[in-house]
Amino acid sequence: MEDLPVWDLYAIRYATRDAQRRNHFMGGDPHEGAMPMDYFVWVAVCGDRVVVIDIGFNAEVAAQRSRTWLRCPIDTLKNLGVDPARVGDVVITHLHYDHAGNFGLLPAARFHLQEAEMQFATGPYMRYSRLSHSFEVEDVCAVVRLNFAQRVQFHRGDGEVAPGIQLHEAGGHSAGLQFVRVHTRRGWVVLASDVSHFYENLLRLHPFPTAFHVGRMLEGFDKLCAVAPGNDHIVPGHDPLVMRLYPAPSPELEGIAVRLDVAPQPFPPGTFPHSSH
Ligand SMILES: [Zn+2]
Repeated sequence: MEDLPVWDLYAIRYATRDAQRRNHFMGGDPHEGAMPMDYFVWVAVCGDRVVVIDIGFNAEVAAQRSRTWLRCPIDTLKNLGVDPARVGDVVITHLHYDHAGNFGLLPAARFHLQEAEMQFATGPYMRYSRLSHSFEVEDVCAVVRLNFAQRVQFHRGDGEVAPGIQLHEAGGHSAGLQFVRVHTRRGWVVLASDVSHFYENLLRLHPFPTAFHVGRMLEGFDKLCAVAPGNDHIVPGHDPLVMRLYPAPSPELEGIAVRLDVAPQPFPPGTFPHSSH
């Protein structure tokens, strides 16, 4: 394991929305209060090799869905010294609109996707708006076209993108969701994506309401823990706390990006409401 490449790892925050605690836990939550949601893409860098994990949505979709769009996530890669035109590998954790909306901005990329996610997004369940509303049909069509252009690499279960970048299948929130484990200077860091939207989903084993299969969502929490050296090595997919616990790579990137390859701060006191009810 010591001879694995060591990747630098960043999160870029590109959008946000106001929401309430009850929006983020299946069946609601007894605690009242605001609980905003952030939107991220992630990028791993090792020398001249770059792997981007998820690609976010664009300004138009943000407006349609009433999200606050802060910046183009792909354009922001330049602030980390990454040229989007030269990115070779992109992991798409799943095809929900907030993870898979900017294919056209990565002209040289090969996209890594679970076969089960493609089947789900093009299959019979999409006739139910309850499930299809998390997808943009144009994104799904874009993947079909990219596949015809030999630019999609399908994975069936766990796999590898590069040495030190591993894929773990954890369908549940979406049928073919995958999360990513990256070998960094502090050991393996697990990018949970939507296997756990917030720290609290994982810590309370309480899934997010958007679900394809609840049992597999719960198993997904187990899978995260099984491959992480500890809970402080797991990075949830949408939690604003990530921006507070991890440092910015430079003063200019304060509030825009953080480094995930260094240890996070501990949770500030009073971060989570008391769970005794
Ligand atoms: Zn998401």
